[in-house]
Amino acid sequence: MTENTKVNSIGKQASKQASKQEHTDACWVLVWMCQGCSNVVTDSIEKADEIINNPKYKRILVSISGGSDSDDVLDLCTKLDVSHKCMYIWFNTGLEYQATKDHLKYLESKYHIEIIREKPIKPIPVSCKEYGQPFISKYVSEFIQRLQRHNFQWEDEPYEVLVKKYPKCTSALAWWCNHRKMGDKNSWFDIHRNAYLKEFMIQNPPTFNISNKCCEFAKKKIAHDAIKKYKADLNIMGVRFAEGGIRANAYKRCFTKGDSVDDFRPIWWWNNDDKVDYERTLNVTHSDCYSVYGLPRTGCVGCPFARDLEGELEVIEKYEPKLYRAVTSVFSDGYEYRRKYKEFVREMKEKGIKPRKD
Ligand code: SF4
Repeated sequence: MTENTKVNSIGKQASKQASKQEHTDACWVLVWMCQGCSNVVTDSIEKADEIINNPKYKRILVSISGGSDSDDVLDLCTKLDVSHKCMYIWFNTGLEYQATKDHLKYLESKYHIEIIREKPIKPIPVSCKEYGQPFISKYVSEFIQRLQRHNFQWEDEPYEVLVKKYPKCTSALAWWCNHRKMGDKNSWFDIHRNAYLKEFMIQNPPTFNISNKCCEFAKKKIAHDAIKKYKADLNIMGVRFAEGGIRANAYKRCFTKGDSVDDFRPIWWWNNDDKVDYERTLNVTHSDCYSVYGLPRTGCVGCPFARDLEGELEVIEKYEPKLYRAVTSVFSDGYEYRRKYKEFVREMKEKGIKPRKD
């Protein structure tokens, strides 16, 4: 090590030490309690302390879903929020497990907090009735919805032909025609990302409206509106990099600077082991959705996007029969269409037919 590197290294240690001294006592207590956890956990506690207790933030909105990641975030925030700047908020989508609602009451009593229950702009059943039902994924539903809006007839024609016929629907047509090809890679924005979907839809055009509007009115817009309504300058969410998918892919790191509100994801870097270690150490309890029903994750009940929808429906029927009746009515067409598609995929594979990419 050269003298210069040594000096730099000592300098870095000194400045780290100096910044460490600025942490709250609450932070040091929590770090001490978590000494058996990984550095990822203790580093994120320090980071959360720096951000939550930064005087520049006057009002912090913490989204509580009732899910396991949100339980960890809530535990962390209640322990570090020494100036009581955090407001806890739950967005009711209109299709929620009773177990989640019960868990919210439990959390309020355990942490001596109030969790604001925010109503949706339109509950999921209303959106589904007005705009259509979700199918496969957010993107797929979005593009199908756009095509349906233009009275698309699910023609098997090249992009250049279809844009002449439907000139105001170019991006959805690009999806339908796999126009954004990325070599052999599947693009999120091409239909061939969902194997055999194009073949299926040509043979079985949808006879009901498909839409992802329920997400917009029961989740996205309501969260956006709440930030304005409660004049928050920091928004905290329980999203982790390790969970993958569209939600996690929307971010690159734990903090995002915004124009009027910043976003912070305190457990962004935690893997599943970090979660287990923290939860054991701090005795974090999850809702019955996990411990009794055995679900791997919570969210809107019976969402047609769920990977293991059929397994989830069995659980709902067993533990929440009233909700089962509700979801099988709200999403009936979407469920039927999805089952038909899955069956189609199975048959194509059995016949050894390769999915088309054009
Ligand atoms: S997650 Fe599913 S059910 Fe919930 S709002 Fe979005 S599409 Fe609708």
